[in-house]
Amino acid sequence: MAGSHNQLERRGLLFVLSSPSGAGKSTLSRMLLEADPQIALSVSYTTRPPRPGEIDGVHYHFTDVPTFKAMAANGEFLEWAHVFGHRYGTPKEPVEAELAAGRDVLFDIDWQGAQQLYQEAGPDVVRVFILPPSIEELERRLHARAQDSDAVIGERMARAKSEIGHWDGYDYVLINDDVDGCFAQVRQILTAERLKRRRQKGLIGFVRDLVAS
Ligand code: 5GP
Repeated sequence: MAGSHNQLERRGLLFVLSSPSGAGKSTLSRMLLEADPQIALSVSYTTRPPRPGEIDGVHYHFTDVPTFKAMAANGEFLEWAHVFGHRYGTPKEPVEAELAAGRDVLFDIDWQGAQQLYQEAGPDVVRVFILPPSIEELERRLHARAQDSDAVIGERMARAKSEIGHWDGYDYVLINDDVDGCFAQVRQILTAERLKRRRQKGLIGFVRDLVAS
């Protein structure tokens, strides 16, 4: 079938979902990974301590500062940044393995990471920014999550405001006022991006043969 043949020969893309915490990005990432077997999550390294319920190797690879620094010095990260006073980094090797296996990779990283990935991989990177419906709703969600202290929530709100200021570094901007509607839009973006002509390695050969014959 032309469709499946084409899918195998498509150039993999790096799909970045960024948002201030509380805008619903983790839910959207989880929904996407469950719905779409063609995309795999990049699990970051972080020096921040795990929150209740977070599993090492699943949500993050939790590590200490000396180990993180050694990995960075060794060129093991595709990108890394300081976020909320901790280090976060995307390990290079698993991303390269997924792309080589013909799959896309999903990144839940901040604007600094999105910028660095774009510098590394240019048009193979698709950057999506998720906005909350309002700043009041964002604060309400952070409180409802009940994972962080008031001081931490205050810090996250300040950070959210500055993070939102970087929305112009993204290709797409979505408002998450209804998670199902927002999820549908995320999938539409991914579908359209996968169909871009420059990603169709298989189709390029097919069309070339057709035109030549
Ligand atoms: P949290 O501590 O709430 O899980 O994440 C804090 C912020 O760090 C989020 O905006 C998240 O997207 C970002 N982040 C997580 N992993 C990475 C990473 O590997 N690189 C970068 N640049 N940001 C990350």
